[in-house]
Amino acid sequence: MSARSHPSAPAVLGGAPAFPNGLALVQPTIEDVPALARRLESVLASGTLTNGRTVRALEETVADRLGVAHVVAVSSCTSGLMLTLQALDARGRVVMPSFTFSASAHAVTWAGGTPVWAEVDARRLTLDPADAAAAADGAVAMTATHVYGAPCQVEALQQVADNRGIPVVYDAAHALGSSRRGRPVGSFGTAEVFSLSPTKVTVAGEGGLVTTADAALAEAVRIGRDYGNPGDYDCLFPGLNARMSELHAAVAVHSLAVLDARIARRNALVAKFKAGTEGLPGLTFQDIEPGDLSTCKDLTLVIEPQFGLTADELAVALRAEGVDTRRYYHPPVHRQKAYAHLAGRRALPVTERVADQVLTLPLWSHMTAATVTTLAGTVARLHEHAATVRTRLRL
Ligand SMILES: *Cc1c(COP(=O)(O)O)cnc(C)c1O
Repeated sequence: MSARSHPSAPAVLGGAPAFPNGLALVQPTIEDVPALARRLESVLASGTLTNGRTVRALEETVADRLGVAHVVAVSSCTSGLMLTLQALDARGRVVMPSFTFSASAHAVTWAGGTPVWAEVDARRLTLDPADAAAAADGAVAMTATHVYGAPCQVEALQQVADNRGIPVVYDAAHALGSSRRGRPVGSFGTAEVFSLSPTKVTVAGEGGLVTTADAALAEAVRIGRDYGNPGDYDCLFPGLNARMSELHAAVAVHSLAVLDARIARRNALVAKFKAGTEGLPGLTFQDIEPGDLSTCKDLTLVIEPQFGLTADELAVALRAEGVDTRRYYHPPVHRQKAYAHLAGRRALPVTERVADQVLTLPLWSHMTAATVTTLAGTVARLHEHAATVRTRLRL
Protein backbone atom coordinates (compact mmCIF):
# COMPACT_ATOMS: atom_id res chain seq x y z
CA MET A 1 0.00 0.00 0.00
CA SER A 2 1.43 3.40 -0.92
CA ALA A 3 1.66 6.18 1.63
CA ARG A 4 -0.87 8.13 -0.40
CA SER A 5 -3.66 5.63 0.18
CA HIS A 6 -2.90 5.07 3.86
CA PRO A 7 -5.66 6.82 5.84
CA SER A 8 -3.39 7.93 8.68
CA ALA A 9 -0.36 8.95 6.64
CA PRO A 10 1.05 12.40 7.44
CA ALA A 11 0.05 15.06 4.94
CA VAL A 12 3.66 15.49 3.74
CA LEU A 13 3.48 11.84 2.68
CA GLY A 14 0.20 12.32 0.86
CA GLY A 15 -2.33 11.79 3.67
CA ALA A 16 -5.23 14.11 4.39
CA PRO A 17 -4.18 17.19 6.43
CA ALA A 18 -5.18 17.07 10.09
CA PHE A 19 -6.46 20.68 9.87
CA PRO A 20 -7.80 21.21 6.35
CA ASN A 21 -9.01 24.70 7.28
CA GLY A 22 -5.73 25.59 8.95
CA LEU A 23 -4.83 26.14 12.58
CA ALA A 24 -3.52 29.65 13.31
CA LEU A 25 -0.75 30.16 15.82
CA VAL A 26 -2.70 32.72 17.84
CA GLN A 27 -6.18 34.15 17.92
CA PRO A 28 -6.93 36.90 20.42
CA THR A 29 -9.87 35.98 22.61
CA ILE A 30 -12.45 38.75 23.02
CA GLU A 31 -15.32 37.69 25.26
CA ASP A 32 -18.73 39.38 25.11
CA VAL A 33 -18.14 41.75 22.21
CA PRO A 34 -21.42 43.67 22.79
CA ALA A 35 -20.32 44.56 26.33
CA LEU A 36 -16.94 45.69 25.00
CA ALA A 37 -18.69 47.76 22.32
CA ARG A 38 -20.65 49.53 25.08
CA ARG A 39 -17.40 50.32 26.92
CA LEU A 40 -15.91 51.74 23.73
CA GLU A 41 -19.05 53.78 23.05
CA SER A 42 -18.82 55.31 26.49
CA VAL A 43 -15.17 56.26 25.89
CA LEU A 44 -16.08 57.85 22.56
CA ALA A 45 -18.98 59.71 24.16
CA SER A 46 -16.72 61.02 26.94
CA GLY A 47 -14.75 63.14 24.49
CA THR A 48 -11.45 62.10 26.09
CA LEU A 49 -9.43 59.73 23.96
CA THR A 50 -6.15 59.81 25.82
CA ASN A 51 -4.91 60.61 29.35
CA GLY A 52 -8.37 59.86 30.71
CA ARG A 53 -10.14 57.87 33.37
CA THR A 54 -10.08 54.51 31.56
CA VAL A 55 -6.27 54.45 31.52
CA ARG A 56 -6.29 55.40 35.19
CA ALA A 57 -8.83 52.68 35.97
CA LEU A 58 -6.66 50.13 34.18
CA GLU A 59 -3.57 51.24 36.11
CA GLU A 60 -5.44 51.02 39.43
CA THR A 61 -6.93 47.61 38.66
CA VAL A 62 -3.54 46.19 37.76
CA ALA A 63 -1.85 47.76 40.80
CA ASP A 64 -4.47 46.15 43.07
CA ARG A 65 -4.24 42.80 41.39
CA LEU A 66 -0.45 42.61 41.46
CA GLY A 67 0.04 44.35 44.80
CA VAL A 68 2.42 46.94 43.36
CA ALA A 69 2.53 50.62 44.27
CA HIS A 70 2.80 52.07 40.76
CA VAL A 71 1.51 51.04 37.35
CA VAL A 72 2.03 53.21 34.27
CA ALA A 73 0.14 52.26 31.11
CA VAL A 74 2.12 52.79 27.91
CA SER A 75 1.70 52.21 24.19
CA SER A 76 3.65 48.93 24.14
CA CYS A 77 5.99 46.74 26.13
CA THR A 78 8.82 47.94 23.90
CA SER A 79 8.21 51.62 24.68
CA GLY A 80 7.74 50.76 28.38
CA LEU A 81 11.12 49.02 28.46
CA MET A 82 12.75 51.93 26.58
CA LEU A 83 11.38 54.53 28.98
CA THR A 84 12.21 52.46 32.07
CA LEU A 85 15.79 51.85 30.97
CA GLN A 86 16.15 55.51 29.99
CA ALA A 87 14.89 56.58 33.42
CA LEU A 88 17.43 54.21 35.04
CA ASP A 89 20.14 55.71 32.84
CA ALA A 90 21.15 52.24 31.63
CA ARG A 91 23.73 53.56 29.17
CA GLY A 92 26.48 50.97 29.22
CA ARG A 93 26.65 47.18 29.44
CA VAL A 94 23.30 45.57 30.09
CA VAL A 95 23.34 41.86 30.93
CA MET A 96 20.45 40.08 29.24
CA PRO A 97 19.51 36.77 27.63
CA SER A 98 19.87 36.27 23.90
CA PHE A 99 17.08 33.70 24.05
CA THR A 100 14.24 36.24 24.09
CA PHE A 101 12.19 38.33 21.69
CA SER A 102 14.18 40.88 19.70
CA ALA A 103 12.31 43.81 21.32
CA SER A 104 13.98 43.07 24.67
CA ALA A 105 17.34 43.92 23.07
CA HIS A 106 16.00 46.76 20.92
CA ALA A 107 14.74 48.57 24.03
CA VAL A 108 18.15 48.26 25.69
CA THR A 109 19.79 49.63 22.55
CA TRP A 110 17.34 52.55 22.08
CA ALA A 111 17.92 53.53 25.70
CA GLY A 112 21.63 53.82 24.99
CA GLY A 113 22.74 50.46 26.38
CA THR A 114 24.76 47.63 24.87
CA PRO A 115 23.50 44.09 25.34
CA VAL A 116 25.90 41.65 26.97
CA TRP A 117 24.43 38.24 26.28
CA ALA A 118 24.11 35.63 28.98
CA GLU A 119 22.84 32.07 28.81
CA VAL A 120 19.43 30.74 29.70
CA ASP A 121 18.96 27.72 31.92
CA ALA A 122 18.59 24.74 29.59
CA ARG A 123 15.46 23.41 31.31
CA ARG A 124 13.70 26.60 32.40
CA LEU A 125 14.65 28.69 29.33
CA THR A 126 14.94 31.81 31.52
CA LEU A 127 18.12 33.78 32.29
CA ASP A 128 20.70 31.59 34.05
CA PRO A 129 21.69 33.44 37.26
CA ALA A 130 25.20 31.92 37.33
CA ASP A 131 25.95 32.96 33.76
CA ALA A 132 24.38 36.37 34.34
CA ALA A 133 26.78 36.82 37.28
CA ALA A 134 29.69 35.76 35.07
CA ALA A 135 28.68 38.35 32.44
CA ALA A 136 28.04 41.19 34.90
CA ASP A 137 31.50 42.78 35.05
CA GLY A 138 31.04 46.50 34.55
CA ALA A 139 27.32 46.16 33.85
CA VAL A 140 24.99 49.08 34.56
CA ALA A 141 21.76 47.03 34.50
CA MET A 142 20.31 43.59 33.91
CA THR A 143 17.16 42.54 32.11
CA ALA A 144 15.51 39.12 32.10
CA THR A 145 12.46 37.69 30.36
CA HIS A 146 9.75 35.51 31.91
CA VAL A 147 9.85 33.27 28.83
CA TYR A 148 6.42 31.99 27.68
CA GLY A 149 5.07 33.20 31.05
CA ALA A 150 7.34 31.03 33.24
CA PRO A 151 8.67 33.20 36.07
CA CYS A 152 12.44 33.74 36.18
CA GLN A 153 14.51 32.63 39.16
CA VAL A 154 13.93 36.07 40.59
CA GLU A 155 15.60 35.47 43.97
CA ALA A 156 18.92 34.41 42.46
CA LEU A 157 18.79 37.16 39.81
CA GLN A 158 18.08 39.78 42.48
CA GLN A 159 21.13 38.52 44.36
CA VAL A 160 23.29 38.97 41.24
CA ALA A 161 21.92 42.51 40.74
CA ASP A 162 22.34 43.41 44.42
CA ASN A 163 25.93 42.14 44.45
CA ARG A 164 26.68 44.56 41.63
CA GLY A 165 24.40 47.34 42.86
CA ILE A 166 22.56 47.42 39.52
CA PRO A 167 18.84 47.51 38.70
CA VAL A 168 17.05 44.51 37.20
CA VAL A 169 14.18 45.10 34.81
CA TYR A 170 11.96 42.21 33.78
CA ASP A 171 10.55 41.86 30.31
CA ALA A 172 7.26 40.47 31.54
CA ALA A 173 5.59 40.68 28.12
CA HIS A 174 4.21 37.13 28.49
CA ALA A 175 3.58 37.06 32.17
CA LEU A 176 0.57 39.14 33.24
CA GLY A 177 -1.10 36.72 35.67
CA SER A 178 1.98 34.55 36.29
CA SER A 179 3.25 34.09 39.82
CA ARG A 180 6.50 33.04 41.46
CA ARG A 181 6.13 31.01 44.68
CA GLY A 182 2.70 32.57 45.14
CA ARG A 183 3.76 36.17 44.52
CA PRO A 184 2.53 37.91 41.36
CA VAL A 185 4.93 38.69 38.57
CA GLY A 186 4.95 42.48 38.36
CA SER A 187 6.23 42.85 41.91
CA PHE A 188 9.83 41.77 41.28
CA GLY A 189 13.02 43.61 40.43
CA THR A 190 13.30 47.36 39.96
CA ALA A 191 10.49 47.32 37.42
CA GLU A 192 8.58 44.87 35.24
CA VAL A 193 7.04 45.60 31.86
CA PHE A 194 4.03 43.75 30.42
CA SER A 195 2.71 43.66 26.87
CA LEU A 196 -0.95 43.85 25.87
CA SER A 197 -0.32 43.28 22.15
CA PRO A 198 -2.56 40.89 20.21
CA THR A 199 -0.41 37.76 20.59
CA LYS A 200 -0.41 37.96 24.38
CA VAL A 201 -2.91 36.49 26.82
CA THR A 202 -4.40 39.84 27.93
CA VAL A 203 -4.84 42.16 24.98
CA ALA A 204 -5.56 45.84 24.51
CA GLY A 205 -5.03 45.80 20.76
CA GLU A 206 -1.64 47.31 21.49
CA GLY A 207 -0.30 48.38 24.84
CA GLY A 208 2.04 47.87 27.74
CA LEU A 209 2.22 48.31 31.51
CA VAL A 210 5.20 49.32 33.63
CA THR A 211 5.03 48.22 37.27
CA THR A 212 7.36 49.35 40.02
CA ALA A 213 7.59 50.10 43.74
CA ASP A 214 9.79 53.12 42.96
CA ALA A 215 7.73 56.33 42.90
CA ALA A 216 10.43 58.39 41.19
CA LEU A 217 10.88 55.79 38.46
CA ALA A 218 7.11 55.61 37.89
CA GLU A 219 6.98 59.40 37.62
CA ALA A 220 9.85 59.45 35.11
CA VAL A 221 8.06 56.87 32.94
CA ARG A 222 4.81 58.85 33.23
CA ILE A 223 6.59 62.00 32.05
CA GLY A 224 8.54 60.02 29.46
CA ARG A 225 5.41 58.60 27.86
CA ASP A 226 4.31 62.21 27.29
CA TYR A 227 7.40 63.43 25.37
CA GLY A 228 9.29 64.14 28.57
CA ASN A 229 6.84 66.95 29.30
CA PRO A 230 6.05 67.23 33.02
CA GLY A 231 2.98 69.32 32.20
CA ASP A 232 4.43 72.79 31.61
CA TYR A 233 5.97 72.04 28.18
CA ASP A 234 9.43 72.59 29.64
CA CYS A 235 10.58 69.05 28.78
CA LEU A 236 12.94 67.39 31.23
CA PHE A 237 14.43 64.91 28.74
CA PRO A 238 13.73 63.63 25.22
CA GLY A 239 10.76 61.34 25.82
CA LEU A 240 8.37 59.55 23.51
CA ASN A 241 4.73 59.60 22.66
CA ALA A 242 4.13 56.30 24.39
CA ARG A 243 0.67 56.95 25.79
CA MET A 244 -2.01 54.29 25.82
CA SER A 245 -5.27 55.52 24.32
CA GLU A 246 -8.52 55.33 26.26
CA LEU A 247 -9.90 52.94 23.63
CA HIS A 248 -7.04 50.50 24.14
CA ALA A 249 -7.38 50.79 27.90
CA ALA A 250 -11.07 49.90 27.62
CA VAL A 251 -10.19 46.71 25.72
CA ALA A 252 -7.55 45.87 28.34
CA VAL A 253 -9.94 46.39 31.28
CA HIS A 254 -12.45 44.13 29.54
CA SER A 255 -9.80 41.47 28.91
CA LEU A 256 -8.40 41.60 32.47
CA ALA A 257 -11.72 40.62 34.01
CA VAL A 258 -11.38 37.07 32.66
CA LEU A 259 -7.62 36.65 33.06
CA ASP A 260 -7.67 33.93 35.74
CA ALA A 261 -10.08 31.80 33.76
CA ARG A 262 -7.91 32.16 30.67
CA ILE A 263 -4.76 31.14 32.49
CA ALA A 264 -6.49 28.13 34.02
CA ARG A 265 -7.80 27.11 30.64
CA ARG A 266 -4.40 27.50 28.91
CA ASN A 267 -2.73 25.43 31.61
CA ALA A 268 -5.39 22.74 31.18
CA LEU A 269 -4.89 22.72 27.39
CA VAL A 270 -1.11 22.43 27.77
CA ALA A 271 -1.58 19.56 30.25
CA LYS A 272 -3.84 17.86 27.72
CA PHE A 273 -1.23 18.25 24.99
CA LYS A 274 1.46 16.82 27.28
CA ALA A 275 -0.77 13.85 28.14
CA GLY A 276 -1.44 13.27 24.44
CA THR A 277 2.26 13.19 23.60
CA GLU A 278 3.52 11.53 26.78
CA GLY A 279 6.42 9.16 26.30
CA LEU A 280 7.36 10.37 22.81
CA PRO A 281 11.16 10.21 22.80
CA GLY A 282 12.97 13.50 22.42
CA LEU A 283 9.90 15.66 23.03
CA THR A 284 10.37 17.88 26.08
CA PHE A 285 8.88 21.04 27.56
CA GLN A 286 10.09 23.98 29.59
CA ASP A 287 10.34 23.19 33.32
CA ILE A 288 7.94 25.14 35.50
CA GLU A 289 8.94 25.03 39.16
CA PRO A 290 6.25 23.50 41.42
CA GLY A 291 4.44 26.38 43.11
CA ASP A 292 5.00 28.72 40.16
CA LEU A 293 2.22 29.63 37.75
CA SER A 294 2.81 30.36 34.06
CA THR A 295 0.30 32.09 31.82
CA CYS A 296 1.27 29.48 29.20
CA LYS A 297 1.49 32.30 26.67
CA ASP A 298 3.09 29.79 24.31
CA LEU A 299 3.05 26.05 23.85
CA THR A 300 6.69 25.51 22.91
CA LEU A 301 8.23 22.11 22.29
CA VAL A 302 11.93 21.43 22.80
CA ILE A 303 12.78 18.75 20.27
CA GLU A 304 15.83 16.63 20.93
CA PRO A 305 17.47 14.35 18.34
CA GLN A 306 15.67 11.19 19.56
CA PHE A 307 12.40 12.60 18.23
CA GLY A 308 13.59 11.72 14.73
CA LEU A 309 12.80 15.13 13.19
CA THR A 310 14.42 18.47 13.87
CA ALA A 311 12.30 21.44 14.94
CA ASP A 312 12.60 22.78 11.38
CA GLU A 313 11.52 19.48 9.83
CA LEU A 314 8.60 19.17 12.22
CA ALA A 315 7.56 22.73 11.32
CA VAL A 316 7.48 21.86 7.60
CA ALA A 317 5.57 18.63 8.25
CA LEU A 318 3.06 20.48 10.45
CA ARG A 319 2.61 23.19 7.81
CA ALA A 320 1.44 20.44 5.43
CA GLU A 321 -1.11 19.45 8.11
CA GLY A 322 -2.41 23.05 8.13
CA VAL A 323 -0.67 23.92 11.42
CA ASP A 324 0.97 27.34 11.77
CA THR A 325 4.10 27.33 13.96
CA ARG A 326 6.90 29.73 14.97
CA ARG A 327 10.44 29.25 16.17
CA TYR A 328 10.24 31.25 19.43
CA TYR A 329 13.17 32.13 19.73
CA HIS A 330 15.17 31.23 16.66
CA PRO A 331 17.41 32.80 15.60
CA PRO A 332 18.37 33.92 19.10
CA VAL A 333 18.92 37.69 19.26
CA HIS A 334 22.74 37.52 19.18
CA ARG A 335 22.47 35.70 15.83
CA GLN A 336 20.23 38.35 14.25
CA LYS A 337 21.63 40.84 11.72
CA ALA A 338 20.86 43.78 14.00
CA TYR A 339 23.30 42.45 16.61
CA ALA A 340 25.94 40.82 14.42
CA HIS A 341 28.43 43.50 15.49
CA LEU A 342 28.25 42.21 19.09
CA ALA A 343 28.86 38.57 18.15
CA GLY A 344 31.63 36.43 19.51
CA ARG A 345 32.13 38.16 22.84
CA ARG A 346 30.73 35.34 24.94
CA ALA A 347 30.09 31.77 23.84
CA LEU A 348 26.42 30.81 24.19
CA PRO A 349 26.27 27.05 23.59
CA VAL A 350 23.12 26.45 25.66
CA THR A 351 21.25 29.30 23.95
CA GLU A 352 22.26 28.05 20.51
CA ARG A 353 21.25 24.47 21.23
CA VAL A 354 17.90 25.43 22.75
CA ALA A 355 17.17 27.86 19.92
CA ASP A 356 17.81 25.05 17.43
CA GLN A 357 15.36 22.78 19.23
CA VAL A 358 12.33 24.98 19.92
CA LEU A 359 9.08 24.94 18.03
CA THR A 360 6.01 26.87 19.19
CA LEU A 361 2.62 25.36 18.35
CA PRO A 362 -0.77 27.07 18.17
CA LEU A 363 -2.46 27.82 21.47
CA TRP A 364 -5.18 30.31 22.28
CA SER A 365 -7.51 30.77 25.19
CA HIS A 366 -10.66 29.63 23.37
CA MET A 367 -9.04 26.66 21.63
CA THR A 368 -11.10 23.51 22.13
CA ALA A 369 -9.84 20.41 23.91
CA ALA A 370 -10.62 18.42 20.75
CA THR A 371 -8.25 20.63 18.74
CA VAL A 372 -5.47 20.03 21.26
CA THR A 373 -6.10 16.28 21.12
CA THR A 374 -5.87 16.32 17.33
CA LEU A 375 -2.72 18.45 17.48
CA ALA A 376 -1.06 16.06 19.94
CA GLY A 377 -2.08 13.10 17.79
CA THR A 378 -0.64 14.81 14.72
CA VAL A 379 2.72 15.34 16.43
CA ALA A 380 2.71 11.71 17.63
CA ARG A 381 1.96 10.47 14.11
CA LEU A 382 4.77 12.55 12.66
CA HIS A 383 7.13 10.97 15.18
CA GLU A 384 5.92 7.48 14.17
CA HIS A 385 6.62 8.27 10.51
CA ALA A 386 9.73 10.34 11.27
CA ALA A 387 12.16 8.33 9.15
CA THR A 388 9.96 8.44 6.04
CA VAL A 389 9.03 12.09 6.59
CA ARG A 390 12.69 13.04 6.92
CA THR A 391 13.60 11.18 3.74
CA ARG A 392 10.77 12.91 1.88
CA LEU A 393 11.76 16.36 3.15
CA ARG A 394 15.37 15.83 2.15
CA LEU A 395 14.56 14.76 -1.41
C1 LIG B 1 5.75 40.71 22.49
C2 LIG B 1 7.01 40.88 23.22
C3 LIG B 1 7.60 42.12 23.40
C4 LIG B 1 7.08 43.35 22.73
O1 LIG B 1 5.83 43.72 23.18
P1 LIG B 1 5.09 44.95 22.45
O2 LIG B 1 3.96 45.25 23.35
O3 LIG B 1 4.65 44.41 21.12
O4 LIG B 1 6.06 46.03 22.32
C5 LIG B 1 8.73 42.23 24.18
N1 LIG B 1 9.28 41.15 24.74
C6 LIG B 1 8.77 39.92 24.59
C7 LIG B 1 9.42 38.77 25.26
C8 LIG B 1 7.63 39.73 23.79
O5 LIG B 1 7.15 38.52 23.57
